[in-house]
Amino acid sequence: MSWVRAVAAAMTEHEERLTQLDSAIGDADHGTNMRRGFATVVTALDDRPPGSAADLLTATGHLLVSGVGGAAGPLYGSAFRALGRTLATPDADLATALAAALDAARELGAAAPGDKTMIDAFAPAVDAFARRTAAGDALPAAADAAAEAAERGARETIPLQARRGRAAYLGPRSVGHQDPGAASTALLFRALADAAAR
Ligand code: ADP
Ligand code: MG
Ligand code: MG
Repeated sequence: MSWVRAVAAAMTEHEERLTQLDSAIGDADHGTNMRRGFATVVTALDDRPPGSAADLLTATGHLLVSGVGGAAGPLYGSAFRALGRTLATPDADLATALAAALDAARELGAAAPGDKTMIDAFAPAVDAFARRTAAGDALPAAADAAAEAAERGARETIPLQARRGRAAYLGPRSVGHQDPGAASTALLFRALADAAAR
């Protein structure tokens, strides 16, 4: 729960920046979508606290799919659902679950790395997390490396031309702006690192 709460707080704190990014290459609603979506999640989970971390993440996914408008809600929602479902299986670890979450978002959105989407932050974060975990790092260090990789990936969307989502309609005019979904993915991983460090 501390991660989901930290995400909700980060989306509220960064709502304006995310919406500003989306106003440059989208329809100026990404910050609102994310802030509202995670606020709804926190309220719903406070009302009916789930029994396990896996159930909590699965419930978060369902709420994001049904409650958040736009492209990002279903994409993040299916990622959280996959995260929860994978963690509910015996012997699953967070690295495996994060890989399943990335797969779910990639399957739904059909975006490849370099298409200027959330995948450009998500994929390097999952890679970094897996590498650090395999090297024997504990959760806080692995999550910090994942957050750094996501932040770098988000910055590196700036020179890219969008090939998926609303921004793709802009063609070359999408170049020179950071992708809002990649920026919110970086916030998600930074919140995970913050929650893990506490
Ligand atoms: P909308 O574009 O419907 O208003 P949002 O503004 O909430 O939705 O989210 C936009 C973000 O969603 C983009 O910045 C991008 O990162 C992500 N996105 C859009 N389409 C895709 C896709 N097909 N695959 C992965 N991510 C996508
Ligand atoms: Mg938008
Ligand atoms: Mg929209």
